[in-house]
Amino acid sequence: MARYVFITGGVVSSLGKGLASAALGALLQARGYSVRLRKLDPYLNVDPGTMSPFEHGEVFVTDDGAETDLDLGHYERFTGVSARKTDSVSSGRIYSNVLEKERRGDYLGKTIQVIPHVTNEIKDFLRVGEDEVDFMLCEIGGTVGDIEGLPFFEAIRQFAQERQRGQCIFMHLTLLPYIAASGELKTKPTQHSVKELRSIGIAPDVLVCRSEKPIPQKEREKIALFCNVRPDAVIAAPDLKTIYEAPLAYHREGLDQAVLDAFQIAPAPRPDLSRWEDVMDRLENAEGEVRIAVVGKYTQLEDAYKSIAEALTHGGMANRVRVKAEWVDSEIFEREDPGPWLEDFHAICVPGGFGERGTEGMINAARFARERKIPYLGICLGMQMAVIESARNLARLNDAGSEEFDHEAGEKRFTPVVYHLKEWVQGNHRVERKLGDDKGGTMRLGAYTAVLKQGSRVAGIYGSPEIEERHRHRYEVDIRYRDQLEGHGLVFSGMSPDGRLPEIVEYENHPWFIGVQFHPELKSKPFAPHPLFADFVRAAKEAERLV
Ligand code: GLN
Repeated sequence: MARYVFITGGVVSSLGKGLASAALGALLQARGYSVRLRKLDPYLNVDPGTMSPFEHGEVFVTDDGAETDLDLGHYERFTGVSARKTDSVSSGRIYSNVLEKERRGDYLGKTIQVIPHVTNEIKDFLRVGEDEVDFMLCEIGGTVGDIEGLPFFEAIRQFAQERQRGQCIFMHLTLLPYIAASGELKTKPTQHSVKELRSIGIAPDVLVCRSEKPIPQKEREKIALFCNVRPDAVIAAPDLKTIYEAPLAYHREGLDQAVLDAFQIAPAPRPDLSRWEDVMDRLENAEGEVRIAVVGKYTQLEDAYKSIAEALTHGGMANRVRVKAEWVDSEIFEREDPGPWLEDFHAICVPGGFGERGTEGMINAARFARERKIPYLGICLGMQMAVIESARNLARLNDAGSEEFDHEAGEKRFTPVVYHLKEWVQGNHRVERKLGDDKGGTMRLGAYTAVLKQGSRVAGIYGSPEIEERHRHRYEVDIRYRDQLEGHGLVFSGMSPDGRLPEIVEYENHPWFIGVQFHPELKSKPFAPHPLFADFVRAAKEAERLV
């Protein structure tokens, strides 16, 4: 049965709780343990699938088709453990399950209450798969004291109480603000945050304190005394140059040791940190730099393309080169020629997105990359726009477009080279969708197989005739245009196994131009860069030599 680490936060949000959880997962793995990470989010959306990327950052998709919080992306990138539907839950999902059961009559006429019905539902979620791993790390979103979070805090309190002593520990992340005028780190907000936590029955075993300065021993002892933890369980979380430093930095500060001590595991297995030492070596000793333009629509919020940014960094690590990704708003290219903006970049990536805004700019960026022979990676919407560009400018289908934009505008303006996907095969059953379906969870989601064309560039890159990648889309390139487009050099080099859904396109007469309907960025890891990103950066590096 797994041991549980519950990770909570206090004082302010955005302290890097997800990163600390992910790093702890990596460190426990380095000591030979198996782990699984989970996220419990207090918001009332059933999942983040319908939230704007501006609101909540990227939606991370799992193999089994769940639309989850971007923290699950961190978890995967640090541990390599593929997240599942059952690793992410929100208050909305919990309440929706409880209400569904109530309607079905499952509660046999009882009055439904937060305690015990909602908390029981949360505890059931926590228990899923507990026999599979040594450690289950569960992060509670938000900060202690948030109204929505209360049922989660109550549930983890009950959970720990019901288990044998020593099976569950609590790790709390706080902030030690630095007051420049007095040159001091202040511990009071941390004391208050722990007090708040204890008032709901949770006593932290490990405190992780974010601070811009090292924590003097005197302050450490003060925190330990006032917060009732051991001094060596007060862990400093300094600011880092790169997130991938987190496992080594937390190890230096003694986080994994403090956690194992809290579980009274002695002697602790020795860690093998070579994976993270290699990652840091690649990051710190990169030679040269390539500049890659990411031409998209959610460029104001960096988190909106989190996995793409990370996958590009990993691609750089594979080639021992630094990748400087710059975010360019595609709408600019609806007014201006992309030339002056893009010609100094060594490669162009057009990522995924929804809705028509900015798409004509993406089409212009794709054209620029094709004509100027600049490496181009189109992901999902970025692939669809590259196909439309090809249809318009090579096949002379001047009004080629996507049905997505006609649906949004409520009028028919385009020849739908990209159409609304209404049925497809998943495993051995058929999935059907209608236009008026709910927005939540109705896309083609999760891992699907693609069959690669022999001799194509992608077959060479993947080194395998069949691949599995994660999807999140509602529209699809229409296979009826295949012959016409292939006649102009746009090869359909990856298809769904039934041959009906184009998964990958590439130009045969271009140094590197690939569009993929799926999201390869979701599977890239610092210690295992995704082959498409590794090869894309390699091509950019080659282009760099030519510039
Ligand atoms: N909006 C497009 C679709 O639904 C692309 C989605 C995406 O880029 N993830 O098919």
